[in-house]
Amino acid sequence: MGRGARGANDGGRSNGVGRVGPLDHPRRRIMLGRMAPQPRDPSPTPEAETPRAGRVALVGRPNVGKSTLLNAALGQKLAIATPTPGTTRTCLLGVYASDEPPTQIAFIDTPGLHRPKSALGRVLREQAALGLEGSDAVVMMIEVPRGRGAGTISEQDAAVLELVQAAGRPTVLVINKVDLVRDKSRLLPLIDAVAAQLSPEAVVPVSALRGTNLDALLAELRALLPEGRLYDDGDDVLTDRPERFFVAELLREAAIAETRAEVPHGLACVIDTFEERGGLVRIEATIVVEKESHKGIVIGARGARLKAIGTAARGEMERLLERKVFLKLWVKVMPKWTANPAVARRLATEVEQP
Ligand code: GDP
Ligand code: MG
Repeated sequence: MGRGARGANDGGRSNGVGRVGPLDHPRRRIMLGRMAPQPRDPSPTPEAETPRAGRVALVGRPNVGKSTLLNAALGQKLAIATPTPGTTRTCLLGVYASDEPPTQIAFIDTPGLHRPKSALGRVLREQAALGLEGSDAVVMMIEVPRGRGAGTISEQDAAVLELVQAAGRPTVLVINKVDLVRDKSRLLPLIDAVAAQLSPEAVVPVSALRGTNLDALLAELRALLPEGRLYDDGDDVLTDRPERFFVAELLREAAIAETRAEVPHGLACVIDTFEERGGLVRIEATIVVEKESHKGIVIGARGARLKAIGTAARGEMERLLERKVFLKLWVKVMPKWTANPAVARRLATEVEQP
């Protein structure tokens, strides 16, 4: 399994974004549904039959809904999405594939682009810029304006806009969360303001959460991609990350959900052991926090919080791996790790012990 994509994740050591080639290491790959190309007649084909494929970077400020859109397009939970901004830490590749018309879109979900305030923030922005660099097209996502100032571009959106303009790729402007506004005309001032600076190929309002208008978005993106296929070998749809990455992410999602307001940002998860034996996966993992007080919060009274995190994470892991999981957790304090460039990179992009 898993021949095909060299992905958007190489720990930021080189720009390997979206490169395609045979795997050079035998890591486990996760298969996501089927992608079965049909043998095609080499004679000229109408546009509806022309295979098109390419890489599309999803960019936007934190919490705008990029990971939710990726999951919706793939029809499977791949990226973790939480109400806490800054959840996505590395570029994550997920491939959408369809036969009608033949299309392969390798989505690169990027961490939120904001002006960095810490070493961790700089790693995130650098990861996002890498995602943009290797893409054929860009989805710039903004969300429906709420409250006053509906026609002004926020500071965060402006920071994203800057990077998208610098990348100079064909861009589709996506306005997400349209389920939150009844009067769609309220979207127009912001669309006008952003479009004036971006000259997008198309503007598509969507609700990533409800799946509204995603077909229209996929059709617009398809039109921007080069002819041909990305993956010729008829493999299963794939992502570029090994299972243990997703396992660490699911644990992080559960830990963030349980501790949200109390332990912001400086929470990372590391997989120490990942062993399969007799249909059971034995996983030992460490939740890393920045402060002693955060450790207490994660553990909770008589370990109740940690137990709840473990139960939630194990359920999600069993769903992902389709096997029984035995999960053992530790909590460790690494003071100020988000301020240490080397440690922030390791913890944000590699889920291994620094
Ligand atoms: P990201 O930081 O851009 O990856 O954003 P996420 O995908 O993690 O989403 C952030 C939050 O916005 C989550 O709580 C999502 O459930 C929510 N969200 C995403 N898309 C929509 C949408 O279309 N409508 C609504 N109402 N909420 C959404
Ligand atoms: Mg995200």
